[in-house]
Amino acid sequence: MDIGGNLRAIKEKIAAAENRGHRPAGSARLLAVSKTFAPAAVLSAYNAGQRDFGENRVQEWLEKAPELPPDCGWHIIGRLQTNKVKYLDSRVKLIHSLDRFALMESLQAAGTKKDLIWPALVEVNIAGDGAKAGISREEVRDFLAAARDYPRVDIRGFMTIGPFEAPAAEMREIFSSLRRLRDELRAQNVPGAANLTELSMGMSQDFEMAVEEGATIVRVGSLLFGERKYYREEA
Ligand SMILES: *Cc1c(COP(=O)(O)O)cnc(C)c1O
Repeated sequence: MDIGGNLRAIKEKIAAAENRGHRPAGSARLLAVSKTFAPAAVLSAYNAGQRDFGENRVQEWLEKAPELPPDCGWHIIGRLQTNKVKYLDSRVKLIHSLDRFALMESLQAAGTKKDLIWPALVEVNIAGDGAKAGISREEVRDFLAAARDYPRVDIRGFMTIGPFEAPAAEMREIFSSLRRLRDELRAQNVPGAANLTELSMGMSQDFEMAVEEGATIVRVGSLLFGERKYYREEA
């Protein structure tokens, strides 16, 4: 597995997609989704210049992070249980999965205790899929308004996870809806909306389309690191 080569190829595709989407070079960044991959694989990406890594289980992150250089920026991308918030610290650069009030409350409490402010993205269930986590598009406005009472949570934008294996046209519509929702809230001067600069959307299957539609962060795992197999079970 040539992780450095994969990284370069993905970055070239991001650059080409920025160009097709008439976006400035460097406006979409790669988040390397390192969940289930061993520290050695993550280090290969690091040595090829990658610094931002995404994990979806706090326990796995706690085990992995100390084995990697201290300037890695860690992103929490999976559903975050409130009883795991106490393990988070300043190594966490961005929480992508702020999907409910209870989590905002836990982050506020932990942030106060640790004197930290958590940069976070609201996970929006843009497709209105009842089985999926996230705030519905109808509830986003109230969620942002309520977030003003939680100063330890700094909402920087939106994240979405599309339906599994949806047709390309449907995924494109989801990505563009998330961007339009953000643009609408900004145009209406909804409190907090000016701060919504990040759009985390697109994975290995569809990151190029997401960049064309305005993603500022694409979350790519398997295309970079290979087929996912939990590293602890391989050994
Ligand atoms: C695993 C995961 C990804 C990466 O998926 P790939 O298809 O391997 O690129 C992206 N986002 C989230 C939220 C994930 O859990």
